Amino acid sequence: MWTMLVGMMTWFFFLGFLIAWKIAFTAGFYFAARRNKMKTVHWTVAGLLLDIWTLIPYFYAKKKMSSSVKCGNCGAMPSPQDSFCTLCGTKLEKYDDGRTAVRFLLAVGGAYVAFVATGTLLSFIFSL
Ligand SMILES: [Zn+2]
Repeated sequence: MWTMLVGMMTWFFFLGFLIAWKIAFTAGFYFAARRNKMKTVHWTVAGLLLDIWTLIPYFYAKKKMSSSVKCGNCGAMPSPQDSFCTLCGTKLEKYDDGRTAVRFLLAVGGAYVAFVATGTLLSFIFSL
């Protein structure tokens, strides 16, 4: 009786930790994407599915985004941290199309499918 109860409590604690972890990463990526004017939906989905691994494409996209700041009005290349063009004062729109998140999701999904397919195939071959 007691062992079962302890086992159940451990399981609930583990499950709670897992859910809290998921919520933290999903919400974290949502707010980070929103603050940086990135595609919130793409990054929230990526955060939900890949949690900590989303950091890889996230920092890549952020770096790419900040290095490609160009003034749409005069064509000047102000420093990435500027919100307004240093030459003409136009508001700079930093752009992220969420493509990095989608690509990373597809790559991880593809690798997972390939891994499962290979495992299934191998177990099928060796069971003959
Ligand atoms: Zn300008």
